[in-house]
Amino acid sequence: PAESLTELSAQRPDGSRFPVWASFNALPDADPPLTAILFHDITEQKAREESLRQREERYELAMRGANDGIWDWDIRASRVFFSPRWKSMLGYEEGDIGSAPQDWFSRVHPDDVRELRRVVGKAHSGGSPNFVHEYRIRRKDGTYAWVLLRGVVVSDESGKPSRMAGSQTDVSAQKHSEDRLQHEALHDALTGLPNRSMFMDRLKHAIRRNRRHTDQLFAVLFLDLDRFKVINDSLGHLIGDQLLIEVSERLRGSVRSYDVASRVNDNHPSSGMVSRLGGDEFAILLDGLRRPEDAARVAERIQQRLQEPLRLANNEIYTSTSIGIAVCKGDYDRADELLRDADTAMYRAKSLGKARYAIFDDTLHGQALNRLQWEGDLHRALERDEFVMYYQPIVALDTGTLNAFESLIRWQHPDKGLLSPADFMKIAEETGLVARMGWWAFGEALRQQGAWLKQAGEAAPRYVSVNLSSKEIMHPSIVAQIEEALTQANLDANALNIEITETVIVDNPQSIADTLGRLRDLGVRLSLDDFGTGYSSLSYLHEFPIENVKIDRHFVRDIGPDNKKNEIAAAIIRLCHNLGLTVTAEGVETHSQLACLRTMGCDYIQGYLFVPPLPSDEASDLLGRGALTPES
Ligand code: C2E
Ligand code: CA
Ligand code: CA
Repeated sequence: PAESLTELSAQRPDGSRFPVWASFNALPDADPPLTAILFHDITEQKAREESLRQREERYELAMRGANDGIWDWDIRASRVFFSPRWKSMLGYEEGDIGSAPQDWFSRVHPDDVRELRRVVGKAHSGGSPNFVHEYRIRRKDGTYAWVLLRGVVVSDESGKPSRMAGSQTDVSAQKHSEDRLQHEALHDALTGLPNRSMFMDRLKHAIRRNRRHTDQLFAVLFLDLDRFKVINDSLGHLIGDQLLIEVSERLRGSVRSYDVASRVNDNHPSSGMVSRLGGDEFAILLDGLRRPEDAARVAERIQQRLQEPLRLANNEIYTSTSIGIAVCKGDYDRADELLRDADTAMYRAKSLGKARYAIFDDTLHGQALNRLQWEGDLHRALERDEFVMYYQPIVALDTGTLNAFESLIRWQHPDKGLLSPADFMKIAEETGLVARMGWWAFGEALRQQGAWLKQAGEAAPRYVSVNLSSKEIMHPSIVAQIEEALTQANLDANALNIEITETVIVDNPQSIADTLGRLRDLGVRLSLDDFGTGYSSLSYLHEFPIENVKIDRHFVRDIGPDNKKNEIAAAIIRLCHNLGLTVTAEGVETHSQLACLRTMGCDYIQGYLFVPPLPSDEASDLLGRGALTPES
């Protein structure tokens, strides 16, 4: 039956009036058709509404001064009253906004409307009578204001909510300064890119999401510019900064903005966020990948973009980047592990020759674990004094007498046994631990040489020869350190010979010449080690204050009775003599090598044929024994 509801005023027999709701119910099937009218006394309800209205009027008056807008939602009638201030604070005129709930909700920001409905709905269904919520609402000019909504639910006597009312405060200004602070905390000041902290945050989100949607892959790209330090040092920080800004732009261009892409379509391949981790290191989070190859394709695109030269302050700058990729297929729990693996892959790319990318895989995983293990072990070795020094005689070829010892470091590893430099030198250099190791080596070799000089007198070796890696010789205070080590051992400088490899000289001619000059001024002897492997020319060696050249054992290996390659060794020896340098042949293992070297006039011999490297006590036994013979 059709029903309609009207509010009427009824009269009592005594003439007083009271409000009623009249409902008209048509009964068309009755004969004749009837309309039933039901009256409902709403005196009390009216009184309550009146008092509420009055309360609200007071509230509204108070609020007007406080700049708030007022709203009042009659739930039964589904009508909302918006105060003039409610409208004007959003730029609307009185007539712009009707009185339907839709007039309100249709203006709420699409991203916020669901949550607002939930909050209001919860209050309405008896959750909590008071609520406070922040959301964005559209102004008349189309922009959005952040508003703070406060509400209270009023129920009728049966406990059913009959109306909601409350205020609306514009909090945009606060929000903006909050946003700015938040932006500053999460972005890099130079490039405006998200910083490490924001990146890690997004990465954590991605890992969590990936656990639910295991079919979707995502990847982390770790980028490091290949020659940034050189550019920064040679052209200055201003250019360096500009370069970083330009690179950021190119990276941003190679990867669509994470925000835009993720809103458009979660499945879009290669939507990503570029961030600057610090210095010349960047990281990219690539989302929604179908296959790991998608990440490689993005890496290629980036490398192509960065290849184009940059013009900065009249300089044409070429830059390239090494990229490490770690793909997450639901197999990571922690953001830092994923980033670390991308970093490991980046190092791999660098070691493969830069300007390329490498993908982290199980092999690299093993290597990374291994590396960590070695690094820890090496720290412990330095603390617990696990290094030992071995000594190999350098024999004068004409007399067969012991001229000196070369000190060769060994590591007495608790699990792995006695290790050679080949096993740990690289990692020592990469971790920088080589400096402490070298300091120990110097101290130990000089202490031993001092002891030999005391014990053996005339029979003592003339000097001890210590190897210096390129990392060590490049250290700014290396000369001072060597001086200090000599003082501590109470030795003359000529009791020390330093061996540096030919490649060191080829790579850094200028700075090395200076360091070697200062060492020579101290009185330290200098040898050029591994000669023949670094492609330097002998005439060029003339410019360095060295006095001895050690022919690399790979040349010595080729020496034989009628070998054409003999001529190379012979030529080296002849030229060295012409330049006033003595020559040592390393790795002499056979009698025939020895015989050939003798005819060539080589000065000194080292090799298994005479004596292998020995621990110090066995080396001491050789002193005072006169001429050494092969296999002694
Ligand atoms: P190196 O300076 O060229 O040392 C010669 C290497 O040849 C030594 O290897 C030595 O044991 C080995 N050797 C000696 N005689 C023969 C032979 O007849 N045949 C063959 N095949 N090899 C022979 P080791 O002791 O394993 O040292 C390797 C490298 O590690 C050294 O090459 C040197 O560059 C570096 N090194 C050793 N000790 C130190 C150190 O205290 N500090 C630094 N920075 N480097 C060191
Ligand atoms: Ca050496
Ligand atoms: Ca050598």
